[in-house]
Amino acid sequence: MKKLFLPTDLEAQIRGHCEDNYPQEACGILIGQGGQVTKVIPSPNLSATPEKSFEIDPALIIHHQRDCRAGSDKIIGHYHSHPDGQAVPSTHDHAQNYDEALIWVIVSVTKKGAQDMNAFATHDGQLVHMVISTQK
Ligand SMILES: [Zn+2]
Repeated sequence: MKKLFLPTDLEAQIRGHCEDNYPQEACGILIGQGGQVTKVIPSPNLSATPEKSFEIDPALIIHHQRDCRAGSDKIIGHYHSHPDGQAVPSTHDHAQNYDEALIWVIVSVTKKGAQDMNAFATHDGQLVHMVISTQK
C-alpha cells in the first residue's frame, strides 16, 4: 500500500480548515514531492452546492502550478471534507475525472469537529486507500 507523509502540523491545518467550513465542504491543495506533503493551501469552495460537493478555485491551482515550477515541489493532490459523512469517496467523488497523479485526502467532520482522515491514490480509474504517516 502506498504511503502519504503528512506532518502533524499540516494535518492539523487541514482539520482546522475542515472544521471552520462545517457544515459546508472545505477543500484545498496539497503541495510536496514523492508522497510527502510540504505545504497545504486552503481554497474557497466554489461549488454551487458546497454542502455536498467541492470545487477548488482553478485560479489557485494555476497560481501554484506556476509557483512550483521553479522549485522541486509541485501539486501532488487535494483535500476536502465530508460534513456528517464518512471519510471515503462519495458517489459524486467517484464520478469525477481522475488525474492519475493526484492524491485525494478526505476528512469526515461533525459538529464536534474533524474525525477520520483518509488518503487515496488513483489507480486504474479507482481510488485506492493509502496509509497516512506523520513522518518519513
Ligand atoms: Zn467528497
